[in-house]
Amino acid sequence: MGEPEFKQSGWTLDALLPAREGEPFETMMAEMEQQVGLFEESRERLSPEIDSDEFLELIRLYESIGVALRRLSGYAHLWFSEDTQSQDALGFLGQMEELVTDVQNRLLFFPLWWKGLDPASADRLIAISGDYAYYLESLRRFKPYTLSEPEEKLINLKDVNGPSALVKLYEMITNRFSFSLDVDGEVKEMTRGELSVHFRDPSPETRAAAYQELFRVYREQDLVLAQIYFHLVRDWASENVALRGFDSPVAVRNLSNDIPDPVIETLLNVCRKNTTVFQRYFQLKARWLGVERLRRYDVYAPLRASDKSYSYEEGANMVLDSLTQFSSTLGENARRVFADGHIDAEIRAGKRSGAFCAGLLPGVTPWVLLNYVGKADDVLTMAHELGHAIHALMAGDHSLFTYHSSLPLAETASVFSEMLLNDRLLDEEDDPVVRRDLLARILDNAYATIARQAYFVLFELEAHRCIVEGATAGELCGVYEENLHEQFGDSVEVSDDFRWEWTAIPHIYGTPFYCYAYSFGHLLVLALYRQYKKQGASFVPRYHRVLAYGGSQSPEHIVSEAGFDMASPDFWQGGFDVLRGMLDELEAL
Ligand SMILES: [Zn+2]
Repeated sequence: MGEPEFKQSGWTLDALLPAREGEPFETMMAEMEQQVGLFEESRERLSPEIDSDEFLELIRLYESIGVALRRLSGYAHLWFSEDTQSQDALGFLGQMEELVTDVQNRLLFFPLWWKGLDPASADRLIAISGDYAYYLESLRRFKPYTLSEPEEKLINLKDVNGPSALVKLYEMITNRFSFSLDVDGEVKEMTRGELSVHFRDPSPETRAAAYQELFRVYREQDLVLAQIYFHLVRDWASENVALRGFDSPVAVRNLSNDIPDPVIETLLNVCRKNTTVFQRYFQLKARWLGVERLRRYDVYAPLRASDKSYSYEEGANMVLDSLTQFSSTLGENARRVFADGHIDAEIRAGKRSGAFCAGLLPGVTPWVLLNYVGKADDVLTMAHELGHAIHALMAGDHSLFTYHSSLPLAETASVFSEMLLNDRLLDEEDDPVVRRDLLARILDNAYATIARQAYFVLFELEAHRCIVEGATAGELCGVYEENLHEQFGDSVEVSDDFRWEWTAIPHIYGTPFYCYAYSFGHLLVLALYRQYKKQGASFVPRYHRVLAYGGSQSPEHIVSEAGFDMASPDFWQGGFDVLRGMLDELEAL
């Protein structure tokens, strides 16, 4: 590993695939085909009496095929993210998705056999399977909801050109949207990523104009985008509730997260009860901004008309220093992402908007995509995505199947890294006005990750219910409006254009009910952070352990290792109490 270079450039995908055509590529495909063939031949060896060593050997082969598929599909997704308008990238992505489906279908007999195995035999094999154990247990969680092999094959096959295709169409339509905004007297064409920078613009007119432009463009396709959503929701219901027999649409996500339904109900109820924390904050913010009442456009308004920006190198150094101050392990892992050239931070037309971290293979440095324009928020986003990368690297000893933490814990390291950066900035600041701005930004972000996300899920619960009952797009807008009203009360004036905001939330299309993971993760981090403040350096090894679990244990197990009980409303309330403390400090300033 060399010295990190902080150049705002594209990334290299060499660690995934040396090339996407030619001899090395053909060889890799041929090797995978051979492995798949070998695995298929093992079908007749599967029986309740199968020998332990033979079973382990088969899982290792199954994992090795999974690694090859992850390389191919990971490469395809990252290439497509670099340039969503490239026909070649799109073609390769389609090809790889079909390949993955084809291979998964050929190997499907194995998970199906495993799910159907009698409990005593399954327990015997789980006991000898080491790091694979939690994965094998997890597969059996879905047993009551699994259909016959031909039915499962049919669903996989139809999904590629069904719901998966709908999500891809949604992305293609929305990623090519172009927005125009008057910036300093000059009308500029921009991507959504660039436009959303202006939601935090110092000028109230520009903030309003940015949101109005966002919705103007989305409104041009409103019925198409709504139709895509309606199809996805109905497909979700007909597959999961009608065919598989889940109690409710959200239960599917809960089961895959291995979190009991009542825990999520408790989480959402506590979020609902504490929406007043943010309402109080918005009233305070209105006074600071010198207005009677905040408009929805002003929710992310910066407090000072600061145009302070951070060069890419400055941002990177701030983030790395704050991590290293907490623990050198965190700092070193984050440096590795830069040193390996796995960050694409450039601003380019056609590039995917927003930011993400793709941890694809255990032990391989993850890839981070940023659209870095140099605002304080971009630095926070960098800390966030590098936190994900740290998490993946620290869990790198696990298998392909147990290395990713489940969704609700997936935001632990990312949000914790943001807290560390914030903390460092607060430590260095004596000016009460700047301190106020920093604290306010923490609350801005807590609003965006906790309350806003919880309310997305509350909306989805309602949407999934009323769409199957035959609601129209217009009626769904009414549902969304009510949701916003409960969220903001009278503290914020919400204009009509927000009624269609749901068509602009990719998560509710691509991964239904995903968003509570953000609320879960952020509140968990606040609780962890409170412990760190109390215990100091002795907390650090415990935190390392939480990350090193990856996805090799249930969330319940990992959270209790951290000293908490996620079934208790008090645990969630504890996170909000940290925020209340900050709010009290702000009101006193
Ligand atoms: Zn994240």
